[in-house]
Amino acid sequence: MISPDHPRYRSLVTRERLAACAKKGVVAMEGLTAHGRGEAFDYLIGERTTESARRAEETAAAMLMTARHPVISVNGNTAALASREIAELQKASGALVEVNLFHRTEERVAMIEKILAAAGADVFSGEAERLLPLSHDRAWSRREGMFSADIVLVPLEDGDRCEALVGMGKQVIAIDLNPLSRTAQHATLTIVDEVTRALPEITRACAELSAEDRTRLLATSDNHYLLSEAIREITMRLAHALD
Ligand code: ATP
Ligand code: MG
Repeated sequence: MISPDHPRYRSLVTRERLAACAKKGVVAMEGLTAHGRGEAFDYLIGERTTESARRAEETAAAMLMTARHPVISVNGNTAALASREIAELQKASGALVEVNLFHRTEERVAMIEKILAAAGADVFSGEAERLLPLSHDRAWSRREGMFSADIVLVPLEDGDRCEALVGMGKQVIAIDLNPLSRTAQHATLTIVDEVTRALPEITRACAELSAEDRTRLLATSDNHYLLSEAIREITMRLAHALD
């Protein structure tokens, strides 16, 4: 058995938590495979917040703080991994928290809303409609929630929905460990970091950034640069993997 101070311990505890949440139906089976893809990329960036990811997290805070109607979209994996972190970011940023699921049932929505509320989030619920230009369950959203948002933070989003939100004229902030995914490539701003590391960094930046910092970050935001830095980081680690 691996000891609690070993760097791998945290990811083992996380896997157990996700498996337990999958058994209860909070996390979809597809969510487990998505987590595995994320873990693989986390190895490749060294399981730490890189300098470019920190820059992206600060830029995300600047975007949320200056938004007219910011919304944090929460799915099963995010609720299982980071409900408390979502509640804290909501307090710091004033964003609306809304549950939006790829594999949607009313029962799953209710379970996830309950987990978020228990963690201290003020969850925006109410009547959902098929408002996004997507087929099936992914189209469901609330008119006063994600549908009217100017900025949406989507931790662990699917590529189709990310593209649809950008197509609707929204600014999309994605948290995605895979810099090559369609989500990462289409988002306005991509944070290539693990969700439980990324959210507290955004929260911290919401509290710490001055108005001048925010203006500077927004004026110099460049997602192509952030993605190329993440890929450079991975390439460097692979090149020196056996040193
Ligand atoms: P896309 O649809 O964007 O091309 P995909 O189909 O490979 O990507 P999805 O299941 O749609 O993957 O989206 C989940 C994304 O979330 C994956 O890219 C995965 O790397 C990432 N991911 C999974 N777990 C985490 C985590 N804990 N932190 C950050 N990112 C994660
Ligand atoms: Mg996908």
